[in-house]
Amino acid sequence: MRLLVVEDETPIADAVARALRRNGYAVDVAYDGHQALGAAADSDYDAVLLDLNLPGVDGMTVCREIRTAQPSCYILMVTARSAVGDRIAGLDAGADDYLAKPFDLDELQARLRALFRRDRAEARQPVLEHADLLLDPARQRVTRAGVEITLNRKEYGILEYFMRRPDRIVSQEDLLEHVWDREADPFTNTVRVHIMKLRRKINDGFDGPPHIHTVIGRGYRL
Ligand code: CA
Repeated sequence: MRLLVVEDETPIADAVARALRRNGYAVDVAYDGHQALGAAADSDYDAVLLDLNLPGVDGMTVCREIRTAQPSCYILMVTARSAVGDRIAGLDAGADDYLAKPFDLDELQARLRALFRRDRAEARQPVLEHADLLLDPARQRVTRAGVEITLNRKEYGILEYFMRRPDRIVSQEDLLEHVWDREADPFTNTVRVHIMKLRRKINDGFDGPPHIHTVIGRGYRL
């Protein structure tokens, strides 16, 4: 999952980005409205955490523009606790949910998980399942045939991306776009190396057919 954090208070923006990265998200940060629109023009995001009160282009305008350009991106708007009118306007401008400032980082992550569950099958089935592989996004836990598998953040992010698209071919570009942030170098073999390590962890020592297949010239399929 790739997120954009839009927040002009640098310490808050950086603390939020750090916490989200620790939890397996790829995160870009924009410190004002112009940067936010630039980032959204460059990259597809799965969700945007958007502070309403921004210098330059205000949060409401950013919200409307992102909503139009990226209809499937979730927008979580951050407003002052007392500003009920802002929340209503934010929801009207296309935000999916709002969070009052100051917010708790655990609550932020719970809200994000709730957004990602929305209108998807996992609303009823929060644990993702593929054959003998289970991935629990709420606890970031992966098991195969009941055996827990320890993955690093990137490996977890890759597997979650696959498990949310079990029938699709996923290209290296898709993974770079959604599991890495803008620091990723598109010309390295980093995706290939991470897939190789992930495959080893989820396949070696287990009975049954291996998971994650190479589709020559196109990418991978779970
Ligand atoms: Ca602000």
